[in-house]
Order: sequence, then C-alpha cells, then structure tokens
Amino acid sequence: MIEISQLLAELDWIPRPRLLALHRLGLETAEDLLTHYPRRYEDRHEFPAFPHEESDVPVCLCGEVTKTSVRRFGGWKKIFEATLQEPNANALSEPLVCRWFNLHYLQKMIATGQRLVVFGKPRLRGKRICMDHPEFEVIENDEEISIHFRRITPIYSATEGLSQRVLRSIIYRLLNELSDAPVETLLPSELARGNRRSAIRTIHFPEDWESLSAAREHLVLSEFFAMQMLIASRRAESQVRVGAAHCGRGELLEKFLRSLSFELTDAQRRVIAEIQRDLATNVPMNRLLQGDVGSGKTVVAIAAILLAIEAGCQAAFMAPTQILAEQHYAVLRRWLEPLEVRLSIRTGARHEENFLPLVAGDENPDVVIGTHALLYETVSFSNLGLVVIDEQHKFGVAQRARLTAREPAPDVLVMTATPIPRTLTMTVYGDLDVSVIDEMPRNRGKIITAVRNESKLGEVLGFLRTQLEGGRQIYVIYPLIDESEKLDVKAAATEYDLWRERLHPFCCELLHGRIPSPGKQEIMERFRSGETQVLISTTVIEVGVDVANATVMLIENAERFGLAQLHQLRGRIGRGEHKSFCILLSSDQSKETATKLAVLEKTVDGFEVAEADWDFRGPGDLLGTAQSGLPALKIGNLKSDAQLMRRARSAAMSILAADPCLELIENQRFRRLIVEQEGRTFSNIS
Ligand code: ADP
Ligand code: MG
Repeated sequence: MIEISQLLAELDWIPRPRLLALHRLGLETAEDLLTHYPRRYEDRHEFPAFPHEESDVPVCLCGEVTKTSVRRFGGWKKIFEATLQEPNANALSEPLVCRWFNLHYLQKMIATGQRLVVFGKPRLRGKRICMDHPEFEVIENDEEISIHFRRITPIYSATEGLSQRVLRSIIYRLLNELSDAPVETLLPSELARGNRRSAIRTIHFPEDWESLSAAREHLVLSEFFAMQMLIASRRAESQVRVGAAHCGRGELLEKFLRSLSFELTDAQRRVIAEIQRDLATNVPMNRLLQGDVGSGKTVVAIAAILLAIEAGCQAAFMAPTQILAEQHYAVLRRWLEPLEVRLSIRTGARHEENFLPLVAGDENPDVVIGTHALLYETVSFSNLGLVVIDEQHKFGVAQRARLTAREPAPDVLVMTATPIPRTLTMTVYGDLDVSVIDEMPRNRGKIITAVRNESKLGEVLGFLRTQLEGGRQIYVIYPLIDESEKLDVKAAATEYDLWRERLHPFCCELLHGRIPSPGKQEIMERFRSGETQVLISTTVIEVGVDVANATVMLIENAERFGLAQLHQLRGRIGRGEHKSFCILLSSDQSKETATKLAVLEKTVDGFEVAEADWDFRGPGDLLGTAQSGLPALKIGNLKSDAQLMRRARSAAMSILAADPCLELIENQRFRRLIVEQEGRTFSNIS
C-alpha cells in the first residue's frame, strides 16, 4: 500500500531512468504525481474514420502502420514518414501520412505492423492527407488496453524519457496501490461535493464526462480555497498588527482643496472618505486605489498625506521611476509648500551619478518622495505613519512588505492605473481593501484612437503639422519596448534626425533611459513648459507623466506593445480640455495584430482593455507569480473558473472572520494548509 506522502524513489517498480524523468518534472512524492493533472483527454471509446479533408480541429485517429520511410530534404535534413491504414479499410478509405522532421529517434520507435494512435490536424499536401508532428502512441499489446484505450484517456504534459503510455501506466498503478487511508479533504463542508480521493482517481481515469467535471470542480475548489485561505490569512495578519490612528482633523486638507483650481469628482470624494475612515482607526490600512490613467489619483494620495501629517506623522510616497518621482516632487512642492509642508526627495540615480546630493529638500521632512531607493537606503523616518505606493504593479509584494514591516505598522495606500479584470482583483489584490475611481474629471477632451499602416505616414505627418500649428504638443513613442533592451544609440539618433527633418521648424527632443538623470529632468521640463513641441521618447514616459497641452501620441511599431501598455501610453494624452489623438502605426498586416489594436480604437475604458488583454495573453502572464506572491495554479483557471473562485473566497473569508488567529483546534488543519501554501509561494519566487 502506498501512502500519499510517500517518495516515488521508494517505489521499487519505477525504473531509475523513469524516476529521474519524473524528478525533472518536479515530481517527488506520490501526491506530486497524482496532482500532475492531465492536460487534456481523448475519447478513445471509438475512433472516427480517417478524414478526406483537412481541418483546423485536431482529431484522434487509430490505424496500422503499413509503410515507413526516411527522406532527405535541404541537404542534411531528414523527414520521417509513417503511413497509416484504417483498421476496417474499404475501397473509399484514404491512408494517412504522418510526418516528423528531423526526429531521428522515431525510426526506432515506429515500425510496420504496429498499431498507432495519433492526434493532430489533418492537412492536405498535394493529394495526400498528412499530419505533421502528431502526438502519437504505439499500442504494444492488447492486455494494457484497459488503461490506454476504450475509455476517456488522459493526456499529460510529458517530458523526455517519459512517454504518455509510461506516465499513464505509472499513475494507474499508483492509484491502484494507494492506501485506503482517507486522503484529507481540505474543503469545508459547504464547498465539498464528493471526496478528494475519488476526485483524484476520476480526474485521471474518468468513467464519463459528467463525473470528470464533478471531480474537476472538487479539485479546483480545493486549490482555490487553499489560495484564498492564504490571502485571507495575510489579510487577517495585517489586521492584528499593532497600528495607530493617523488622521488629523482635516483643516489642512480643506485648505488644500480650496487652493485647487478644480472641483474633485464625486469618485475622488468618495475614495478620500474611505481612506479617511481607515486612517482614523488603529487597525493598519491596507488599501488599493484603482483608477484609470488620468482619473486623478495623485490628488487623492495628497489628501491622505495631508491627513496623516496633520496627525503629526511622516508620509512616504514611492514611485517606480525617477521621472515620476521627480514629477511628484514638483507637483507636491507647487501644491504643498504654500501650506508649509516640508518635502524631500531621495532617488538612487541621484546617488549613483553623484551629480546632485543624495537628498534634496527639507532636512526634517513631513513627506519623503522617492523611488526604490526608499526601500534600500537607510532612510530614517522618525515617525512614519503613511506609505503611498504609486503604480504598485511595478513593485512586488516583497518590496511593499519591506517598506511597511515596521512597528507600529504604518497605513498603506497602493495605487494602480493598470486595471485588472474585476474577477482577478479578488485574487491578485485579495488581501487589500479596494477603492475605485470610476469617473474621469469632467474637463477632459476626448481621445480618438486610430490604427494606421506605416505606408500612410505621409498623411499622418500632415495631421501632426496641423496640430503643432494649432499650438499643441506631440509625443512620438520610439519602438523600444524595454529600457533594459540594449539601446542602439545610433538608431535612436538617426530616428531623431529624421523626425526633426519631418517636423521642421518645430522643436524636437529625444528622451530615453540612458540619458543621465539631470538631463532627463531638463528635457521633461522644457517639454512641460512648451519650449519643445515634440518629445521623441521610449516608454520611459509610460507611467504618470502629465502634460496637458500634449494632445497627440504617435506610437511606432504599435504591434510590439501589449494592450495594457498601449493603454498606459495613451493615458499621457487627453489630459487637458483639447481633443486628443492616439495614432498607432504598424506595418504588421496580420489578423491577430489588427484585432488586438482594434480594441483600442473601440474603447478608452481601462477595464475593457484589461479584459481584452486577458483574452489575448491568457491569465498566466497577468498573474505574475513573483509579483502577486501567490502559488501557481495546477488545475484551476482564473478566468473560466471565476465563479468557483468566488465561492472559495467567501468560504475562506468566513472561516477567518469567525476565528482570525485560527486558534481553535479544528482549525489547525487550516493553519497547516496556509503554511503549505506559503511554502509553495516562496519556492515559486526563488
Ligand atoms: P493619475 O490617476 O493617472 O495618476 P493624475 O493624478 O496625474 O492622474 O491626474 C491627472 C491630471 O488631472 C492632473 O493634472 C491633475 O491635476 C488633474 N486632476 C485631478 N483631479 C481633477 C479633477 N477633479 N478635475 C480636474 N482635473 C483634475
Ligand atoms: Mg499617476
């Protein structure tokens, strides 16, 4: 009898090479292997007849190998072909030619007379029906047929040295020899349907599609529940930390609001009230402020800061880039120095380049603004009460924790302009309270987005000129996606010369990450003041930069950017009362690019863009594991299983609400679950 926790290495019937292959997949224990869930299933009760036409849907076929051959092409390259005949072939039957390129070892695996199951897309090549690089299995003897055939058959992600058949046989035997000791069900009774043991059996070898889906539901719920327990416990943990109330009477805030040239939107008012309530209690605040680009999050952050410093403590304001930190510093000086608030800025770049002192501003500041430098330097706060983190998606949870793990715990407000689909918020930001600014300031001009082919550049230039002549300013985004990508300075310079010529006599400047920071700052300043009309830039201007008179953004090679990033970039315009234009230039004619870019033509709503982005990229990318600090999912799908996530979440929340420290004996098992999850999280990050 095998125990679920048993090491696979202890099972003497698994040959050593196979064991090593299992280890390569990260599978060490019986449980690891049993939760190595099938990637998909094939219904092998009955195989369809061989096709006569090609199809985009992969099919699973079974036939006998009647011929094999190796052909050469392109000199040294080889192609291996196996021709299959249908079992009950008749005069109308067509053979199927399976082809593999450059896979020499297949010659040793496939031979005439064997029965083969293949899975792939049938294609018409000349007159023959072919399948290129199908997944395949050789049927060796009829005895094993009950495992691999005449059933709904599981297909796994396999690895070298471990064929589908071998992996399936090992799992089959493991399930048969598994001890009858109950496999602990992690689910609370209101979620559980069936038990874990039979769910695991069924997920590998289902009797029918209905029981498969019930088993899957059980396992997805367990996985989601474990994740939500971790999230809920992080939340509970932060709520039992010793905090302090950091909320002044609000006179300073009133003064500030009166000094503004605009009225707050209702949404801004509402979220300020939410923050004010959090600040006033001595439970540490952990709040996420979500609001589309340009919705006015900075003012809300300032409101929080003013309430905190009126209560006699310091605030830290952390931004992900130098440019943004400098901009916040400038904005805060303009708005807050008249109110006698003392400000200082600390950024790493100033330090490294040694151009300016490490610290600028007041020696005994109320507010310290900075980049990551705030995390690593020994910034000595005497009485840190509030931490505001802008564009939080650029930081990881670990970094957030680093700034906030002090006693007494400061209040924390994180802000993001990268909306994520609503169903994801409860997971990715599940340990935070969420405030949403769902309304734009009224004075905003519309943003019109248009996709244009590079060949239309002439017309586009004409349009740019009219805008410049009308007194507006322009961003041209240079197609360099990542600042860490090696910047070809020569190419950038050539590009820059080209643009100067094209838009002569208007004044252009070039901005990119390699320009030393005082220079960068001056370039931004000249653009802000209107001295320069055109800023040719890489994506360093992506987040937060705010110049109201800039109304046109031209993005070159738009297809190279993700939707969310394009939306962020576009958020730099439409900030004043003028109508704004975002032009997405692309020479890529593919349907995929066209559909992707069309999303931006259709909507300016960040949430809609996020949903679409999710469709294009899949959930994996969105939920960067290290960033969210959550374990990777083995079976659940954040998008299609959102409903199950909701149920798991409310179950986890109610357990922790009833017993926040998990003190009761019966809750020890939940505590264990959380510890296990933490373990998975950290092993994922490292
Ligand atoms: P984001 O949410 O993208 O960080 P910002 O805070 O930079 O946006 O605000 C964008 C611009 O809108 C700033 O110039 C800011 O002063 C202005 N703004 C903020 N709130 C309002 C409002 N209620 N009415 C008009 N303008 C506003
Ligand atoms: Mg901002």
